[in-house]
Amino acid sequence: MNEDDDAVRGELEDVYRRLDQEGLIFLAAGNISVRTGEGMLISPAGASARTITPASFVHARFDGSYDGDRRPSSEWSMHADIYRAYPEAQAIVHTHSDHCVALAATNEALPPFHYMVAAFGGNDVKCVPYVTYASAELGRAAVPALAGRSACLLGNHGMICHAPTLEKAFSAALRLEILCRQYICARQAGTVRLLSDEQMAIAVARYKSYG
Ligand code: 13P
Ligand code: ZN
Repeated sequence: MNEDDDAVRGELEDVYRRLDQEGLIFLAAGNISVRTGEGMLISPAGASARTITPASFVHARFDGSYDGDRRPSSEWSMHADIYRAYPEAQAIVHTHSDHCVALAATNEALPPFHYMVAAFGGNDVKCVPYVTYASAELGRAAVPALAGRSACLLGNHGMICHAPTLEKAFSAALRLEILCRQYICARQAGTVRLLSDEQMAIAVARYKSYG
C-alpha cells in the first residue's frame, strides 16, 4: 500500500460511514468505489459500518479479478460497466435509501418536479426495470439509463450514481434521496405541476457552471 492508496482508502471509509450515518446504506444495503489506475477500489461484499476499515476495501479489476482474501462487492460488475462506459466517472455510490427505493418500486422516473433534478444532467432521473441483483445484466441495464445523467433508479432495488469525486458522489446520493422524498411528499400534497422542457434546459445549463 502506498501513501496515495492509504489516503483513498481513508476517504472511502469516511464516506462509507457518513452514508451509514445519513441512513442511506444500513445493513449492507449499498456499496461504493473509486476508479484506480487498473480498475477500482470497492467496498467488500457484505460490508457494514460497524466493521469497515480502510483495509477492507478491495482492489478489483473490470474482469472481476481482485487482490487479497476479501471478496469485492457483489455489484462489482455494475460498477465496472459504469466506469467502462463513462470515462468521467471517478467514483460510484449505490444505495437502497428509503425514498429512492420507494420511487423505484413504482418503476417510474423521478420527473422534473423541482429544478434540482437538473443536477443529475437532464430533466429526469430514469428508472430501469427490475433486474436480478448482483447479476451481469444489472450493469447492462443501468448503463443506458445513465446516458446524459449521473444517476438512475434501479427498479425494485435502489439507486446508483457516479461523479468526478467520491465526495460529489456522496452528495449526489444524498441529494437524490432528498429529492425522491420531496417528490413523494408532493404527490401526497396534490397534483404535481412539472417544469417544462425549456425551464429544465435553463436549469441544466445553470448547473453546468455551478459548484
Ligand atoms: P454487497 O454487500 O455485496 O456490496 O451488496 C449490497 C447490495 O447493495 C446488493 O445490491
Ligand atoms: Zn443493492
